[in-house]
Amino acid sequence: MTDIRSMTPEELAAWFKELGQPAFRAKQVFRWLTEGAESFDEMTNLPKDLREKLSKDCRLFAPQIERRQVSRIDGTVKYLWRLWDGNCVETVLMCYHHGNTVCVSCQAGCNMGCVFCASTLGGKVRDLTAGEILDQIIFTQKDSGEKVSNIVMMGIGEPLDNFDNVLRFLTLVNRPDGLNIGMRHISLSTCGLVKRIDKLASLGLQLTLSVSLHAPDDETRSRLMPVNRAVGVETLMETCRRYFEATGRRISYEYAMIDGVNDSDEQADRLAALLKGQPAHVNLIPLNDIDESPLKPSRRVREFQQRLERHGVTATVRRKLGGDIDASCGQLRRRQMEDRRGSV
Ligand code: SAH
Repeated sequence: MTDIRSMTPEELAAWFKELGQPAFRAKQVFRWLTEGAESFDEMTNLPKDLREKLSKDCRLFAPQIERRQVSRIDGTVKYLWRLWDGNCVETVLMCYHHGNTVCVSCQAGCNMGCVFCASTLGGKVRDLTAGEILDQIIFTQKDSGEKVSNIVMMGIGEPLDNFDNVLRFLTLVNRPDGLNIGMRHISLSTCGLVKRIDKLASLGLQLTLSVSLHAPDDETRSRLMPVNRAVGVETLMETCRRYFEATGRRISYEYAMIDGVNDSDEQADRLAALLKGQPAHVNLIPLNDIDESPLKPSRRVREFQQRLERHGVTATVRRKLGGDIDASCGQLRRRQMEDRRGSV
């Protein structure tokens, strides 16, 4: 089956040429896909024989809404999509004054094993295709009627562990004849796969790289994030510096604040020392409580922030959106997996 939703207009054109179709058909199809067509029959400006051929050769399964939750507090919408093979992934739509941001998933599950994260509890089931990542935006727009202007790759999965599909997704979403979302409106978050960060750096994209740091020392970070056991904080920071030199883009560091684990004054001092001399921004995230974990949210977020600021480090506290709808990714999918297990 051809994965038509992951194809660029040029690839479509090359394929259509083989089928004896003019190049403009590719543009038409790409437009339909961008608008969220759910069947080839909807593509009424294509000749019938082409529609039939495409229906036979391609899987055009639109993600189905398994669940949708709307926050009563701030209107944040969380979707649980069911993909063609029954796997589910989450997408969150956040509406800010400056535009709408969508948080997308890139894998069904995750293999990184961070102890505070709900997405990783059942491991990775599979990578998403570029089209499946893109469709989260297309169908969020279609369902909500809201136009998306910013994307954060901070949903389920590790983007740099699905490198090729994520890169293809970035190419597609960036297309002026597609969703036309510029790289500067995209953030990609990673737990710190250093070889892949270097690979990304070599591409010189203007997106914002977010690195999930969560601790300034190896002992704490290795406890929270198994990825740190192979490559420690020092190597990660060297890689980040190289990334900045190659791209000129300031890195954003995520730091989920956990009670008694990574929120001491000493850790704030160490964090500031670690970031000294590089343009950086620290995003403090109040930990989202997940049922399966004994870790609790820190009560020292403001103190920690102020201490960083005193050291000259820019730090902001992430505003909590959708607190009433489990809007941190991984939790809804997890719940749904449990419900299914319970019903077997
Ligand atoms: N794999 C990528 C993207 C995943 S999630 C990464 O690790 O960056 C996006 C962010 O949410 C990451 O910084 C992740 O560490 C953080 N996160 C995961 N679970 C969390 C929780 N329970 N509370 C707060 N932040 C969490």
